[in-house]
Parts: sequence; C-alpha cells; structure tokens
Amino acid sequence: MLIGQQITVLGAGIAGLAVARALALRGARVTVLEQADAIREVGAGLQITPNGAAVLRALGLGDALAVAGLASSGVELIDGPTGAMVARLDLSGLRPGQSWHFVHRADLIDLLAQGARDAGVEIRLSHRVTGLDLAPDGPVLTLASGTALRPGLVIGADGLHSVARAALNGPAAPFFTRQVAWRAVVPAEPGARPVAEVHMGPGRHLVSYPLRGGTLRNIVAVEERTRWVEEGWAQRDDDLEVRLAFEGFSPRVRGWLDQIGDCWLWGLFRHPVAPVWGRAAPGAPARGVAILGDAAHPTLPFLAQGANMALEDAWVLAATLAAEPDLGVALAAYQAARAPAPRASWPPPPPTRAATICAGRCARWRIWAWARCRGLPRGGCWHAMTGSTVRT
Ligand SMILES: Cc1cc2nc3c(=O)[nH]c(=O)nc-3n(C[C@H](O)[C@H](O)[C@H](O)COP(=O)(O)OP(=O)(O)OC[C@H]3O[C@@H](n4cnc5c(N)ncnc54)[C@H](O)[C@@H]3O)c2cc1C
Repeated sequence: MLIGQQITVLGAGIAGLAVARALALRGARVTVLEQADAIREVGAGLQITPNGAAVLRALGLGDALAVAGLASSGVELIDGPTGAMVARLDLSGLRPGQSWHFVHRADLIDLLAQGARDAGVEIRLSHRVTGLDLAPDGPVLTLASGTALRPGLVIGADGLHSVARAALNGPAAPFFTRQVAWRAVVPAEPGARPVAEVHMGPGRHLVSYPLRGGTLRNIVAVEERTRWVEEGWAQRDDDLEVRLAFEGFSPRVRGWLDQIGDCWLWGLFRHPVAPVWGRAAPGAPARGVAILGDAAHPTLPFLAQGANMALEDAWVLAATLAAEPDLGVALAAYQAARAPAPRASWPPPPPTRAATICAGRCARWRIWAWARCRGLPRGGCWHAMTGSTVRT
C-alpha cells in the first residue's frame, strides 16, 4: 500500500523523524519539512521507557539507543528536605529485551535523523509551514517563503503549536496550570548512579538523572506558582530563582543547583487532546492529513511519556497506513488505537481550571504523603507528615 507513495511530514522532532523512518522502511517516499535551519536540540534529557525503546528496536535503532543512552537501574522517591529515600522502583526486574534509558535529547534526535536519512527520507531544513488548507481535493501547504505545495498525504508532527492540528480541529484553548519547570544540565559527580531521583516537597519537586555515560546530570525542577510564565523552551531564567525555590532541600540537591549555568524556564500549560487525529479528503480519498505526538496529545512532563507516546504513535500510524488501503478507514483505525477511549459522554466537558490544578496538586500530595507514611505503624502517618508527637 505504501510503496512509492509520496508523504510529507511536518516537523523533524521525535515523532516526525520516527514516523518518517517507519514509513520509508515500508516503501513510502517521505519528505520532512522542518522550520529550523539545523537539526539541533536544546540540551536536556529524556527517559526512554520500555514502550518507547520497543519502538526504537522495531525501527532497527535499538543498538543506536544502547550506545547513546545510559541504562537506568531504578527510580527513587526521596524526601526533598531530608534527602532520605522513601521508596525505590528497582528496574533490574525488567524482562529480557526490555530497557529503560536516560538519553540526551540531542542524541535521540541525531539517531532518529540518521535513521530517517538511511531509510531514504529527505529532510528539508528552513522550511516553515505557515498554513494548511484542507481543500476537498487534498491538502495544500503554504510555506513561509510563500510557496504552495500539494502533497498527497500530510503528517503533522509539528508539536505543541501544530498547524496541522489547527487545520483539523480549529484553535485550542490551553491554559497555564500554575506550574513551571526549570531545565538545566550540569556536570555529573564522578560515579553518578544510573538512577532517576525524584526529590519531593510541598508545592515543588525535582527530577534528576545522569546522561552521556554519566558525565552530565539532567535536572527538571517543578514549582507551583501563580506568576504566569510563557510556554516554550526559548525562555532563559536567572539560576538564582531555582536555587531560591529549592533552598529548603537537601545539600545534595542544593549542590547540583549551585552548578547551574544556563537555566531554562518553561510554563506548563494544559492543552486538550485533539478531537480529530486524521481525515481523508472527500474529493480525493488517497489524500489527507494525520497528526501525532504533541500535535495530537500534548502532555505535561510528570510521567515522562510525551516522547515515548510520540514513538508509539509513529509505529501505529505507519503500520495502519501500510495495512489498510482505504485512507479514511486507516486514519479512523489509527485514532481508535491511539486516542484516549471515548467516555460515556463524548466529547467530555473540558475540566475547569480549578479542577485541573487541584487534581495535579492532590496527585503529587498523595504520592508525597504515601511515600512518607509507607511502612509506618497505624497512627504513625500523622506523626510522619506533621512532626507531631500526638498519635491518633
Ligand atoms: C521538562 C520536560 C521533560 C520531558 N521529559 C520527557 C521524558 O523524560 N520522556 C518522554 O517521553 N517525554 C518527555 N517530555 C515530552 C517530550 O519532550 C515531548 O512530548 C516530545 O518531544 C514530543 O515530540 P514531537 O515530535 O511531537 O514534538 P517536538 O519535539 O516539539 O517536535 C516538533 C518539531 O516540529 C517543528 N515544527 C513546529 N512547527 C513547525 C512548522 N510550522 N513548520 C515546520 N516545522 C515545524 C519543530 O521545530 C520541531 O522540530 C518532556 C517534556 C518536557 C517539557
């Protein structure tokens, strides 16, 4: 079905490069349009969990992942102020063939870009798409240069502010969750253990793990605050701000923060999942548009799954397009396989801002409270959380 088919992918990020390779390996002729003038990434880490690693292996990139990534041995929940470990997820129990890696984002993009080129994908840089018109006889792309293109099938992997998502669904209304994330990379201490440490405290937490053979340490520090912050990576912040926010944390955490040079601040926004993930053109059924990755379902970083889900989308979309000759049926099957299950009333009413913020805080508070109370005798929980000597 895909042999010789011309497909244009918007965006050379994780989703775009992965789907480009997956489609090209199935015989499609794939072009990727990327707005940046070079394939480069801001320095930061990602956790590629077993689900994402399985896709990379299926794409023939498992060995490259093993070289670029650092195999994780566990995830530890740590009380931020005291530095005491309260719970550990031991990853030595992963099944044979499963892996969990810490990867520098730039290294993941490099290996995916090389993989795409090796499969015959053409990556065109400095090609910013400014418009996508879903004409009845097929999509029309407009580039910033003013050029109009008429590719048969367009796949929007153009991230949070996707042109393709807007063409399929209209504008979305994201809102600030009252949480911000600082990101930084610092030199790792010699012998840094390959563990993701989650240092938790009221209203804030910090995730850190080593990268690049243990030479660097990735830091993501999240704080709840009412001051509004822009969404996006390009915003630098004074490193003093993050040090002040975590000054009540253990010396280990403060030592990392003291080393920060470049510090990036990101406002966490809640975006709804796109209601429509693909559509075939009514007048030309072999032409159409699909979306994946953050373009379809932007995620908050708390479960470290945005990139992993983008990889899963890429695999399922390519496999569905290859298996089903009718584009409309294939796109419906792709959305059914990947989008959240329909609820009793669909689409569900959007959550109120207060409900979303409250849910996030409650979830983190429950983890923190559970971690502190774990293993304590009945009645010890109140004591552990408040420091009170009064036992209930
Ligand atoms: C603090 C933080 C920590 C995270 N940690 C993890 C983690 O540990 N594990 C994990 O799985 N995920 C993590 N994520 C999420 C993950 O980074 C994203 O979900 C993932 O990068 C989405 O990939 P994507 O390809 O859909 O979008 P992107 O990576 O945003 O790529 C989109 C690409 O499209 C290009 N583009 C955009 N618009 C246009 C246009 N108009 N024309 C042409 N090109 C365009 C962009 O330049 C970019 O190259 C984290 C995110 C954050 C913010």
